[in-house]
Amino acid sequence: MKESRELLAQAAETSTDEFFLPLPDGYQKGKTRYVIVMGTVMSGLGKGIFSSCLAKLLQDKGLKVAPIKLEGYLNIDSGTLNPFRHGEVFVLDDGMETDMDLGTYERMLDQNLSRANFSTSGQIYRSVLDKERHGEYLGRDVQMIPHVTGEVKLRLRELAVKTDADVVFVEIGGTVGDLENAFYIEAMRELAYEEGPHSCCFVALTYILEPHALGEQKSKAAQLGIKQLMQTGIQPDIIACRAENPVSETAMQKISVFGNVPAERVFSMHDSASIYSIPAMLRDCGLDFEVLRLLRIEDRTKLRYERKQWERWCDFTDKIGKEDKEVTIGVTGKYTSVRDSYASILNALEHAGIHLGCKVHVDWIETTDLTDQNADQFLKNVDGIIVPGGFGARGLEGKISSVRYAREHNIPYLGLCLGFQAAVIEYARNVCGLSGANTTEVDPKCPEQLIDVLPEQKKIEGLGGNMRLGGQDIAIKPDTLAWRLFGRAESVRLRFRHRYEVDPNYIPLLEQHGLVFSGKSPVQPIVQILELPGHPFFMGTQAHPELTSRPLRPQPMFVALTAAAIRKRYADADQAAPEKAVQAVCRTL
Ligand code: GLN
Repeated sequence: MKESRELLAQAAETSTDEFFLPLPDGYQKGKTRYVIVMGTVMSGLGKGIFSSCLAKLLQDKGLKVAPIKLEGYLNIDSGTLNPFRHGEVFVLDDGMETDMDLGTYERMLDQNLSRANFSTSGQIYRSVLDKERHGEYLGRDVQMIPHVTGEVKLRLRELAVKTDADVVFVEIGGTVGDLENAFYIEAMRELAYEEGPHSCCFVALTYILEPHALGEQKSKAAQLGIKQLMQTGIQPDIIACRAENPVSETAMQKISVFGNVPAERVFSMHDSASIYSIPAMLRDCGLDFEVLRLLRIEDRTKLRYERKQWERWCDFTDKIGKEDKEVTIGVTGKYTSVRDSYASILNALEHAGIHLGCKVHVDWIETTDLTDQNADQFLKNVDGIIVPGGFGARGLEGKISSVRYAREHNIPYLGLCLGFQAAVIEYARNVCGLSGANTTEVDPKCPEQLIDVLPEQKKIEGLGGNMRLGGQDIAIKPDTLAWRLFGRAESVRLRFRHRYEVDPNYIPLLEQHGLVFSGKSPVQPIVQILELPGHPFFMGTQAHPELTSRPLRPQPMFVALTAAAIRKRYADADQAAPEKAVQAVCRTL
């Protein structure tokens, strides 16, 4: 009998048999291995967190890793998804609007990702349908199997070629048994068949229930979930058990027997105060080496390199939970009831806090009812204020009042995107005397159209969509606060997701009244960072700096806000002088 490898090679050249194997140019079979992470029992288990932590452990061993998230929904990207339902929209440097899990990967791996790391069912179907219209299926009826599943495998292999990865981490959105991701799971079964033994490692994430009324952990739902996965023809190699508390031996033994997975490959992944402690949790139970053994790539690791990387990582994680200071930052947003809508801001504050030895609490402030008159009630207990990004009219006046309160009461302020625009409007109204200043997003007929869609952008609108998306360089003005914070760099790169800009005609007036625009587009008359000299810390940016904060490289604006908040809190209370790390930042403010 012919080996499946030969059949597959043949299939690439002929369309008369049942094999369909589109391979990207340069694909070397066996070079890249695949770890496939799927969820059972329920969604929201933290597949992205698990997958990114495991990927990090392999990356630390000198392996090249590339994650990809496969989403079940039909939207082409996440740009139109409501943050209430799906968490924040995470924007990549290349402008792709993705699921928040991509943020988890970027932070954990300290690696910029691209559109090749993200796919939706909509993208897959669109490319199959485009190919069909271009006659690429040579007269065949186009089917879910092999064509749609073939397209999924093509994506993974393209990513393997593009990144030269040792291991591609595939995270499948949703839960095994969902109609919408069934073809992804079938594609993974086919991938393992085509790539051969030891090419793929299947990880099932499951959930162990612990009903309070019973007071013990129950594994039945997990067992049924694994059984459902096995019905698709996939035998998991590893089972990670999510649970509130460490999973009991008995529960893990049951899962091992019924899931047909050796006990040493069933792991407890219980709740943890910080996601940055999870890599250590997985490492302590030897999951990294189990995966390397299953994929037969132990010989690709560089253990001396790992020792260094791990030491750096532990220097960071050792500080978690040992913070000896605390501050409260008020975040005035619209989606304050859903923490996931501001996931990157929370992460950026956590990074800054750990760096400065300070626990950062967040006070979520709904601004719909906040006014100049009652701002004190909402904001008197905070040590710093962030007005985050947002769209639409609701709550904007409250945000502008929050900025005024921060400016007039010397409270450290950071405005992000809409928060930058709110700061400019507040300054124009209350300092420059332009009482009619507003954004045309909220009031298209306002007398002073301070924030507007620029003429160049309006032209693009006709062609469909004028959102400024992705990474852009910002020219930094020397001798400003921004310049000092960014280490005297002439230019920094931040990510954007917005439509409106400060109308350049108003810039001279704002500057005459003392507002400093310390960051500008190097190519257009667009202002992107503002600051207010003389204030303890007052900064805004049209960008989203939260998207590029990384655990070991906390974003400077967040570090500065936190340091200024610490200085305010502890100086006011006349307590012990803040420690060195804080002083170092404060000196630049
Ligand atoms: N709505 C504003 C704009 O489109 C701000 C966007 C944002 O905060 N992401 O310009």
